[in-house]
Amino acid sequence: MAKRKPIIAGNWKMFKTASETEVFLAELKSAIPAQPEVEVVVAPPSVCLAAAATALKGSPISLAAQNCHWEDSGAFTGEVSPPMLKDIGCTHVIIGHSERRQFFGETDESVNKKTKSVLAHGLTPIVCVGETLPERESGRIQAVIETQVKKGLEGLGPQENFVVAYEPVWAIGTGKTATPKQAEEVHRLIRDLLKEMFGEDIAGRTRILYGGSVKPDNVKDLMAQPNIDGGLIGGASLKVDSFNALVRYRD
Ligand code: PEP
Repeated sequence: MAKRKPIIAGNWKMFKTASETEVFLAELKSAIPAQPEVEVVVAPPSVCLAAAATALKGSPISLAAQNCHWEDSGAFTGEVSPPMLKDIGCTHVIIGHSERRQFFGETDESVNKKTKSVLAHGLTPIVCVGETLPERESGRIQAVIETQVKKGLEGLGPQENFVVAYEPVWAIGTGKTATPKQAEEVHRLIRDLLKEMFGEDIAGRTRILYGGSVKPDNVKDLMAQPNIDGGLIGGASLKVDSFNALVRYRD
């Protein structure tokens, strides 16, 4: 199997001001190893990205946005575009987070447009998929994930470099984590779907992150699964100690 460098990505959601971002990142930079064994990514709120880009200069930490529009520019009040994010120093964009699907009308179609636009500007999309509790309990996990993956990634080219994040909605911010076995089952399903859509090579090199109440005390068991290549982390990314412990999960 292809060797995939793990990613530990922090999704700050709507937490931290720009000044808190500066303080946090200064502390995080000195806490993590100079050359981490994993790719470290942080996704602050959009108004904090400029401060974060300055704070991260010369560090191995990459900067992500939590969302974007698919157009480059236009009359879209309140939105930001991939070229704007690239210009400010972002390398990654989270797309289709369940909170955006739940509260802001994100659909598989908009996820697909955003993913293509982000890739066209040389940024890496982190495309989120995941089932709700009723979907899991009614045995529809496979159908839901298959639809989200196929529609969200439809039409991508063979050279594209994207990341998928499996985030069971019932595990986000709830303290309930999928067991490593439950997570691995869905990660394997996603890898099989990628194989079907893009072939062995892309499926073998695409990182599939798990998200949903990942903490320093459960990260090792999750990361021991063959198809889990990192974490997309909300709550535990907001404290330097816990995020640093996640970055150092192999220690
Ligand atoms: C998330 O926001 O993507 C997430 C997984 O949150 P938490 O780690 O708090 O469950």
